[in-house]
Amino acid sequence: MASSKTMQLHFLLVPLMSQSHLIPFTHMAKLLASQGTSITIVLTPLNASRFNNFIDEAKASNLKIKFHLIPFPCFQAGLPEGCENIDTLPSFEYQPRFFHASNMLQDPLEKWLSQIETLPSCIISDICLPWTASIASKFNIPRVIFHIISCFTLLCSHNIAISKVHESVTSMTKTFVVPDLPHRIEFTKSQLPEAMRSQDSKGWEDTIDQFKASEILAQGILINSFEELEMLYVKGYEKVVKKVWCIGPLSLHDNKASIYDDESECFNFLATKKPCSVIYACFGSLSRLSVSQSKELALGLEASNHAFIWVIGKKDFSEELEKWLVDEKYEDRNKEKGIIIRGWAPQVKILSHPNIGAFLTHCGWNSTLEAVAAGVPMITWPMFAEQFYNEKFIVHVLNIGVRVGVEVVVDNMEGEKVLVKKEDVKNSIENVMEQGGEGEHRRKRAKELKEMAHKAVQEGGSSNTNCKLFIHQIMGQIHNN
Ligand code: UDP
Repeated sequence: MASSKTMQLHFLLVPLMSQSHLIPFTHMAKLLASQGTSITIVLTPLNASRFNNFIDEAKASNLKIKFHLIPFPCFQAGLPEGCENIDTLPSFEYQPRFFHASNMLQDPLEKWLSQIETLPSCIISDICLPWTASIASKFNIPRVIFHIISCFTLLCSHNIAISKVHESVTSMTKTFVVPDLPHRIEFTKSQLPEAMRSQDSKGWEDTIDQFKASEILAQGILINSFEELEMLYVKGYEKVVKKVWCIGPLSLHDNKASIYDDESECFNFLATKKPCSVIYACFGSLSRLSVSQSKELALGLEASNHAFIWVIGKKDFSEELEKWLVDEKYEDRNKEKGIIIRGWAPQVKILSHPNIGAFLTHCGWNSTLEAVAAGVPMITWPMFAEQFYNEKFIVHVLNIGVRVGVEVVVDNMEGEKVLVKKEDVKNSIENVMEQGGEGEHRRKRAKELKEMAHKAVQEGGSSNTNCKLFIHQIMGQIHNN
């Protein structure tokens, strides 16, 4: 039950316009609003239209959530019209322009704040929008950062950056150990994100430095994770940076905010299968597979002894691949065994289905945590950004995953690149689905983590308590001002 004090709190949420940021931000909005606070989420018009259902649902549940819309300056930043979300960029090369456009949201947001009657009680900013620090300081509003990655990743990359351990490694394929971690975690340079990997990544390095500086200026950090999952890393990061509140898994607060395609076909298919028997393969909102790589994946899924759901995201859609699927009669010959979802899959719902046995994932943090919350073991196929960190966490710390065997970051899989062969896909599926032995151990561990995740978000659980402590802290500050 919300107290009259929390009713006065108003949080301004400022996310980066990318699905993997917007989804947890909207879930967090729901969580905070359910505690009696009111929420404004800053969005651009096209992104807001993706979340119409979410706002309708919030209204129906009497949650005080609204959007504040700011036009996205595509033209001014040199982006094609309508490119308001990272997933609509024609290629990775447009990312700097996208970040430039995101930085240009500062002025209109400032203008709006200077016109409204009552300022928000607190800004919750995406780590990727460091200019929110200036706004917070100008209007004297408390500001916290919301990270959409794990404390494991944050601490690993912090320790690598501080120790510069990777700089003395000459070969891209030689392993080094990340210093001062609770577990022995090894990396090669070729698995590190671009900003740490190459000599000519100065642009990204500067951007990361700005993110870090703005994190230092924040009053604390909200994380989409839960303490029981990575307690030592939460404490470790808190020690080297600042106060952390883990409030996840946020996906457990909402599973209807996605745009669903082919929903009934997928669930009809799942209903015909046995418990824990189906492989779900999906690579998030940004990753791209080459056509040749998609074919290898298709053949690997077919060669395994298990049923599958394969999501071909918009980015992977190509006439060449479609033609190959038709020429091969791939879907006909696999009618009983598998289905393809083209476009956007209802991932959280699929993962929670009891007949899903494993998740072949690109290891985005949202996907990882959604699998943890659903108690599903993973086959890890990291591609870029912090995904190799997540792979190490899944496989070496949580012990709920099997590697498909990728060794290098691929920022942009263009051309005919094939990193994972059909046999690798097949073998990793057989491995993760192994009856008895390691397979059983991983499944048991995944179920234990699922239970912990659900407990964490329930009344009195760690994430639920952290959310209340966070609100309490902001309330204390407001009343002391
Ligand atoms: N997602 C989904 N359906 C899809 C693809 C992705 O619902 O077909 C959701 C997924 O559940 C997750 C987010 O999109 O919440 C992807 O975030 P993640 O951090 O895993 O990866 P990214 O998109 O940043 O690569």
